[in-house]
Amino acid sequence: MKARFELVIVGAGFAGLYMLHRARQLGLGACVFEAGSGVGGTWYWNRYPGARCDVESMEYSYQFDEALQQEWRWSERFATQPEILRYANHVADRFDLRKDIRFETRVIAATYDDGRWAVRTDKGDEVSAQFLVMATGCLSSTNRPDIKGIDTFAGPIFHTGEWPHEEPDFTGKRVGVIGTGASAVQVVPSIAPQVAELSVFQRTAAWVMPKRDRVYSPARKAFYARHPAALHASRLAKYWLSEAFGPMVFLDAPRLSAIAELGSRRHLERSVSDPALRAKLTPDFQFGCKRILISDDYWSTFERENVELVTDPIEEIRREGIETRDGRLHELDAIVFATGFALNIASAPFPVFGREGRSLDEAWRKGAVAYKGLAVSGFPNWFILMGPNTGPGHTSVLVYTESQIGYALQAIRKLMGEGLRFVDVRQPVQDRYNAGLQRRMKYTSWASGCNSWYLDPDGGNHALFPGFASEYCLRIRRFEPREYEIAR
Ligand code: NAP
Repeated sequence: MKARFELVIVGAGFAGLYMLHRARQLGLGACVFEAGSGVGGTWYWNRYPGARCDVESMEYSYQFDEALQQEWRWSERFATQPEILRYANHVADRFDLRKDIRFETRVIAATYDDGRWAVRTDKGDEVSAQFLVMATGCLSSTNRPDIKGIDTFAGPIFHTGEWPHEEPDFTGKRVGVIGTGASAVQVVPSIAPQVAELSVFQRTAAWVMPKRDRVYSPARKAFYARHPAALHASRLAKYWLSEAFGPMVFLDAPRLSAIAELGSRRHLERSVSDPALRAKLTPDFQFGCKRILISDDYWSTFERENVELVTDPIEEIRREGIETRDGRLHELDAIVFATGFALNIASAPFPVFGREGRSLDEAWRKGAVAYKGLAVSGFPNWFILMGPNTGPGHTSVLVYTESQIGYALQAIRKLMGEGLRFVDVRQPVQDRYNAGLQRRMKYTSWASGCNSWYLDPDGGNHALFPGFASEYCLRIRRFEPREYEIAR
């Protein structure tokens, strides 16, 4: 396809869908390129057993449309991946979004030239647009550690972030799960009852909080249907509650962390009876430093006869299984990598060239930076959703996304309304903003001394916002033209 649009959006996950909807409302001609064959982004790819959102469904919903909120009834407090994917599909159908989405198409390059972006895809499309919006999320490229001997393994290897659409059958198999992060705590309890033996390879123990999941009763759903204000109030209460607990997660405040750690230790004591096993599962870093895990049944799964926690480091993968440093060979029929993702925003997801041919990789040589996580100096009319330093550690990502889309649209409206050519954030404005953020980083739990995907190899944090969601949303509520170079 060769075409001209006002707006090109990369990605049809939650952010891309909402951006497209809002752009349409403004009357913009928009096109979305999506690598998958369906909408939903992370919820399209992460379909491993037990996958569900560990943020409450009511919070993990779009807030923008009252009717949509009323007509969609979540069945559980923490929705499963299939239900969230159904929700994304419902939104796509409800607002008739599919007709502007080109599926199974990856953007391979974007180049800015004189007020327009030239976008190329792996299907040979060459389109031009005044605005380019990245809705690729921050965790979509899977991390497959280069463990010695990985290619020699005789059985299948899966990654939670690229789960096959045809569900593998683990019945009666010996399965190894590498990793003990947010994906692992969901997949481990889900497959444990099915497999013959499950070996969980833990490099770092993690703090786990109880989830207290429950199915919403028909009476409760009917109540919310009759009283929309009650639904609204409940959602607001949940939002403010997560904000209130936010400092426990993001601040380097050992006394606050100790309260959460006590709660987590109690959960461990209730879940695991063997003190030696409990010791192996107890983290040695401050609560909040790594992503907090939420699960009712992860720890108790290790009480099962067929489940083993392996804490000896992995030495190599062999034909028959995984060998650990103690010389033991764990014989396996299948391996599941729950080893997470390479942080997308650590580098450009595809070659991006801004003004005067400057590449984004070059601009981000010392770490990904953007103004308010949204705009990068030298890359006019380009907006990133969930860009650098916008990740939440304590609440729903959609709160941030919806606000960011509001901000990007203000800029777009200004350009369109006044017939401007481009807006490009001023370098000193961007630098000041980021210096301020990085100063605050040293007071966060993420800098309290642990390894995590939040941190760059040099220890810098370009992933998360070091404060409340409300603060971030307040800061981006108004697009300020004076912070941008504007060309007519
Ligand atoms: P992750 O949190 O990065 O965890 C990866 C795990 O793999 C860690 O336990 C890590 O150990 C281990 N690992 C990595 N490389 C290894 C190696 N070479 N050898 C042994 N172990 C290795 O990844 P994730 O669990 O997929 O979660 C990533 C993010 O996705 C989460 O933080 C969250 O933001 C999101 N997520 C959200 C949900 C949800 O319900 N909302 C669910 C899943 C994921 P170390 O800790 O020692 O590095």
